[in-house]
Amino acid sequence: MDAFVDEAVPPKIRISADEISNKTIPAFSESQLLARAKDLGSLNKPYKSYIGMGYHCAVVPPVILRNVIENPQWYTPYTPYQPEIAQGRLESLVNFQTMVMSLTSMDIANASLLDEATAAAEGMVMSYVSSGYRKRKFLVDVGVLPQTLAVLRTRAKGFNIDLVVADALSAIEDDMLRKDLCGVLVQYPDVNGHIKDFSTFAESVHAAGALVVCATDLLALTMIKPPGEWGADIVLGNSGRFGVPSGYGGPHGAFFAVTEKLKRKMPGRLVGRSRDATGKPAYRLALQTREQHIRREKATSNICTSQALLANMAAMYAVYHGPIGLRRIAHKVHGFAQVFKDSVESFGYDVVNATFFDTITVKVSNAKELHDVSITAGINLRHIDDHNVGVTFDESVTSNNLVDLINVFATASSSSPVSLQQLREPDAPAIPSSLERTSEFLPHQVFNKHHSETEMLRYINHLVSKDVGLVHSMIPLGSCTMKLNSTSSMIPLTWEEYSCIHPFVPFDQVQGYHTIIKELEQDLARITGFHSTSLQPNSGAAGEYAGLSVIRAYHESRGESARDICLIPLSAHGTNPASAVMAGLKVVSVKVQDDGNLDIEDLRSKAEKHKDKLAAFMITYPSTFGVFEDGVQEACKIIHDNGGQVYLDGANLNAQIGLTNPATCGGDVCHMNLHKTFAIPHGGGGPGVGPICVAEHLSPFLPSHPVMPLGEKAINAVSAGPFGSSSIHLISWAYIKMLGGQGLSNATKIALLNANYMASRLSGHYNLRYKNVNGRVAHELLIDLVEFDKKAGLKVMDFAKRLQDYGFHPPTCSWPLSTCMLIEPTESETLEEIDRFCDAMIQIRKEAEDVISGVQPKDNNVLKNAPHPMHVLTLPDTEWNRPYTRHTAAYPLPYLEEKKFWPTVSRIDDAYGDLNLICDCPSVEELATT
Ligand SMILES: *Cc1c(COP(=O)(O)O)cnc(C)c1O
Repeated sequence: MDAFVDEAVPPKIRISADEISNKTIPAFSESQLLARAKDLGSLNKPYKSYIGMGYHCAVVPPVILRNVIENPQWYTPYTPYQPEIAQGRLESLVNFQTMVMSLTSMDIANASLLDEATAAAEGMVMSYVSSGYRKRKFLVDVGVLPQTLAVLRTRAKGFNIDLVVADALSAIEDDMLRKDLCGVLVQYPDVNGHIKDFSTFAESVHAAGALVVCATDLLALTMIKPPGEWGADIVLGNSGRFGVPSGYGGPHGAFFAVTEKLKRKMPGRLVGRSRDATGKPAYRLALQTREQHIRREKATSNICTSQALLANMAAMYAVYHGPIGLRRIAHKVHGFAQVFKDSVESFGYDVVNATFFDTITVKVSNAKELHDVSITAGINLRHIDDHNVGVTFDESVTSNNLVDLINVFATASSSSPVSLQQLREPDAPAIPSSLERTSEFLPHQVFNKHHSETEMLRYINHLVSKDVGLVHSMIPLGSCTMKLNSTSSMIPLTWEEYSCIHPFVPFDQVQGYHTIIKELEQDLARITGFHSTSLQPNSGAAGEYAGLSVIRAYHESRGESARDICLIPLSAHGTNPASAVMAGLKVVSVKVQDDGNLDIEDLRSKAEKHKDKLAAFMITYPSTFGVFEDGVQEACKIIHDNGGQVYLDGANLNAQIGLTNPATCGGDVCHMNLHKTFAIPHGGGGPGVGPICVAEHLSPFLPSHPVMPLGEKAINAVSAGPFGSSSIHLISWAYIKMLGGQGLSNATKIALLNANYMASRLSGHYNLRYKNVNGRVAHELLIDLVEFDKKAGLKVMDFAKRLQDYGFHPPTCSWPLSTCMLIEPTESETLEEIDRFCDAMIQIRKEAEDVISGVQPKDNNVLKNAPHPMHVLTLPDTEWNRPYTRHTAAYPLPYLEEKKFWPTVSRIDDAYGDLNLICDCPSVEELATT
């Protein structure tokens, strides 16, 4: 093994085996780890939180808890780029989009963004872009959540947008502001609970030629007039209270909806409806393959991984409860707020907000005293200032909780405590009639028929049975690293002591979480060779953005803010240039040689040419071609010599751990994709965690957060949660702890070995695009299929779709080169599974040969017609006009007779960018009846 590793990894970048060993990262058994997680969980105090500010303690229906978030069939699949084997989650994401469109009354919604704060930032940037990059002022109402404002500040910087924070209703009268205004963000209801009427305001924003962006709450929208009915152009928020655990900050699915005229500018993924080759309706991602087509330096958003799993949970919650159930929950929450308000008023308190849905702001003489009483009662209230406290209700609050809460205010005002029997039901909702919702919502059948647990269970399982995940077979996606994670690493995150914690609770209530966060930060710093870590970014792309913003802040601190050039190789992932642009950098591309290696001379000449303005160089290592480049340290030195900083894209870090590290390679900052390298499952397109590690000189600049402020050099927040999606940090923490240093290093070696084994089994059948001087690849391999196109018109997609018939999710297709497949087995696959995949690839190669030699025609063959769903195979004999048997189509290798996964539709047209395919509210039953 060691001799092999020496052939694969250049000696000059190797680190000593002691650096990542069981001495530096001790190993735990599964049972030890679970015991430790239990112990640490008991340090998180189970206080009842009424903090609000966009986060709620959600009640997860058990049928969704067990069958979605705890179900590997839902949490292990990849982003649905292969729609034929992803119809289940595509349908569920359409449910999510439909739910958002219906509740907000907007024309179109996407399939989730990372969190509410970054969604607001996307809304701000869309407003700026819509003004033709001409109007620089963006007005933010004072009622917006503080964490949203912090993220807006960070994001505004890169685009040079001028944020104006004011009372929006009056500020909009200012003509100076109106002249240069691109958009406005309002919170509805606002952070203090007010529900303001924005309809005339929206007219005057539009009259100024600007957009209205509205952050809102889906549950409130069941009772209050939806923003789409009073003129909002962009509506966004967090869908977490629809049955997604709060998890000390996440993950949650943010939603984002726009009017028809803005749909082409909308960030993120969108599911639309198309047809398969037989004319059967089917779903697919509408703006196909975002990250491959992400518009590089022309991009205005870098969204790749989003929050698919959590969006699916929220959609299922709406399917389960339906419009009537949602309204009932909303009435309960609102009713509790009313009872609370009446009670505290009877104690002599003043309530600040005349209108409210679930949030009440109470004036108090001494907020500290009141908080002391509430903490003693095990209750967290929102800290506003010395004279105001906030109380927000959610579905989880019971009537006994309500009594306890009211009695905190009774005690603090020396009133006599109340009992449950003394509380009086409110007469009618307290929402002003002009702001009441009168329109229907969620009329679609899917939201009106799965309301018994039995039906719900069947619906969840019906959908997921259409999708290939790691529960079926390996998903050999190069760069995206689909490793199966252990069940033991998943178990703690739905434990109450981790799942039901508000992100803004006092520090001393989350000692368990903080021990885990600290340990994970330290382990990641050790693994990367860097000094410190920020866990805040919610995806790899968000990490890139954070890291580049840190580099900018560093240059600025040295009086070098003019440094704004970012060198990026042409082979880079599309998010790299997109993130650079968002951080206010100008992208200059660097050439790549045919063998995938960086063109060092081109790099040198460009670095020297831009010497005075060079900010950063972004490099992926091993490269996107699956290569450990020899020249990485030299490349980094060139950058440093010319005053730049090196950003290492760590998506491929799983090929480095224990053998080398980004610091040794010459980097200053790197991100990791914990949802690739550190075993967080992909969730069908998210959640992700994209932490950054930085060298010591950059650590003062790591992102801060309004509720967890860091030093004065720190950049503003990049995510809504101070530690991003805290609950899933547990997974990577557990993965690292259970492998220990030795296991982590072994995992890397086995990942390299598996890729090289595969390269050698496929050689002679396929053309391997690159190997190093020793004939070795790194952890993935790039095979070029161009010959089949030349000889027989067979494209990469034909091979990919045929692999579905063999029960496999195809490898990464047409990236980083359009004629190639990038294959990555990972360390978690067995020899048997790798052989099964290779057997399939080799058999397909034979089938391709039949097309080349003319045995099967070029336009009607087993590859072009793939995949083969049952309804095609069971066509009457008269319609089966194919030059191969049904048996060959379905069972080309013996293992399939025993283990067959059936795609549910035939090939879906992958044509890119036809926006007419986007759902105009397609419903499931419409599909069923078509
Ligand atoms: C996956 C990936 C990214 C983007 O990460 P997300 O978490 O999807 O945002 C960036 N670079 C490379 C090389 C990747 O493979």
